[in-house]
Amino acid sequence: MASQEREQALAKTAIALMGDCSVPPTPDNFELFYLYASGDNAAISNALGELVRKRSPISTSLLNDLRARCLTSERAAKTVEEVGSGISEALDVVLGKLEAAGKHAGDYGRALSAASGELGDDQSPDGVRKLVDGLLGATRAMETRAKNLEDELQRSSQQVTELKVQLEDVRKETRVDALTGIANRKAFDSELQAAVNDFRETGVPVSLLMCDIDFFKSFNDTWGHQTGDQVLRLVATCLSENVKGRDTAARYGGEEFTVILRQTALADAINLANQIRSTVEGKKLVKKSTGDILGRITISIGVAELRRGDAPELLVRRADTCLYRAKHTGRNRVVGETELAVQEETDAA
Ligand code: GH3
Ligand code: MG
Ligand code: MG
Repeated sequence: MASQEREQALAKTAIALMGDCSVPPTPDNFELFYLYASGDNAAISNALGELVRKRSPISTSLLNDLRARCLTSERAAKTVEEVGSGISEALDVVLGKLEAAGKHAGDYGRALSAASGELGDDQSPDGVRKLVDGLLGATRAMETRAKNLEDELQRSSQQVTELKVQLEDVRKETRVDALTGIANRKAFDSELQAAVNDFRETGVPVSLLMCDIDFFKSFNDTWGHQTGDQVLRLVATCLSENVKGRDTAARYGGEEFTVILRQTALADAINLANQIRSTVEGKKLVKKSTGDILGRITISIGVAELRRGDAPELLVRRADTCLYRAKHTGRNRVVGETELAVQEETDAA
């Protein structure tokens, strides 16, 4: 099938499937379903396959998650590939030039040895002048080639420098959450591992906050997913504003956030968590387009401190247990490990 016909067929299939699964026909959703129809993206095919086969309605939040997970990494991978092939083309040019330069140097060397052979015999002044002229010509040609080579290398090295900057941008992009602009899960995982390693070496305390927006589902249901997304951005801003440069605020997934606090023991981490909690609670939400007052949102936070021998996952799990407790004891609360321990003792008594 000609490529245009294939594209038209894929577009029709994508639109039909969106209709079958009650998915709003937005350009973003079209992109996902087009990729699904093409079968080119394994993660999208896996995530949507079962639902599409059953023609089940597919929720906006699932599509948003899928977009964040599959499309940004696909775009980043494509850019990395482009930058990579740019670098290898630039290097091919450099290697080609060096090879040619080696050949010219060889020619020059041969011209010199031939001349030294000729000089061995008796030579007339005319013969010597001719020889010297010839050598002068060969030397100038060599100089010109050396100059050209230098210019070429300069250009190639500039190109490689630009490509390295691009690559660095892409690397940063793969560590940032597209919706909120703070660190994503991948960056969080590597930062937490780094914090655990530092703690093992230095013993300087590290604490972790796990935060979750309260009743966010009903906020979305009332005000719509897009307004919900604005709230996610707002919470991300509140986190970033309250932490220092050495700390890492990240979107852990969906409406859950996390903060790695360096050089911070539990008591200070709990204070900071309360500060963040009250910053979020203090924001009055107004829908810009309509002026509707959306009320306030709150978050619950669990706080744990890294202990000797802890793997990163264990710290996350302990903070998560505290978060769970905060949810079950009224929400809009901070629960630290100490409170949990007291509760456990009371339960046992
Ligand atoms: P709880 O206080 O127990 O945390 O209640 P909740 O409603 O916040 O908890 P639940 O886990 O039931 O719902 C989380 C909701 O978060 C579901 C989903 O609609 C919403 N959500 C997850 N990711 C996104 C997103 O990227 N954008 C928006 N707008 N909403 C999201
Ligand atoms: Mg949640
Ligand atoms: Mg929640």
